[in-house]
Amino acid sequence: MVAAILEFGRALESGRLAPSQTAETLLRRNPFALLLAILLDQGVPAERAFQAPQTLHERLGHLDPARMAGDEPGVLRAMSARPMPHRFPAVGTRWIVRAASRVSEELDGDVRRLWADRPTARALQARFEAFDGIGQKKAAMAVEILARDFAVPLDEMSGSDVAVDVHVRRVFMRTGLSASDSIDDIVRAARELHPLRPGELDVPVWMIGRTWCRPRSPKCSSCPISWACPSSTSYPQSAEDLVALRAPATLAARKRAPVARVGAGKDVSRNP
Ligand code: SF4
Repeated sequence: MVAAILEFGRALESGRLAPSQTAETLLRRNPFALLLAILLDQGVPAERAFQAPQTLHERLGHLDPARMAGDEPGVLRAMSARPMPHRFPAVGTRWIVRAASRVSEELDGDVRRLWADRPTARALQARFEAFDGIGQKKAAMAVEILARDFAVPLDEMSGSDVAVDVHVRRVFMRTGLSASDSIDDIVRAARELHPLRPGELDVPVWMIGRTWCRPRSPKCSSCPISWACPSSTSYPQSAEDLVALRAPATLAARKRAPVARVGAGKDVSRNP
């Protein structure tokens, strides 16, 4: 199973994070924009969260942490105008203003200071978790995005983790990778299954959960790990079946697999 998941994950390209190219460019150029997207990736589809920094930039005219820290009413107006960047504008505003204040005062306005000293994956996850509004899921996701999509050098990726949300939880449970759906047990299972880099399981498992392993009627016949999944309704019955099934199923699935981490426009909330 783990080999199948990793094989699928390595075949995925590092794709776009935001739905629009403008928002994507902002995320790539402005690490504070990326922090805002991570903060807001809760309770809404990931596409909406990763588009939000661009919307805020357009409405505020800037994404300056110092100015945002001192202008909570302005941030709230930008968060409350329709279309709203987040369904809970007041909570989102609180997270944003507190993060802006912390970045401004403790990081000299530069979010990159969080990882400039090449921290271990675990240390960086802890730094993200110190922000109001960021828990295990968002912090682990941030580490994986930085390492995978931004090629930020980090030490000891053995300390990375899966970002446990509804999709990751469902796939771990349904495939038997974890016997319990608690965050701690799933994180522990991932560490045991892929000790060199547990976080590498995150993107492919999340993608499988949101695309094929849906809550009802999982699409096992087209799932890219169907050939290895013990819960697959298309699970091969014999070694001959496996040989016959594996290559075409995997190739076909790759052709259908979206390359972006977000962007398929479905129910992609990364809520725990
Ligand atoms: S084969 Fe079916 S049960 Fe297994 S992960 Fe894929 S969709 Fe889920």
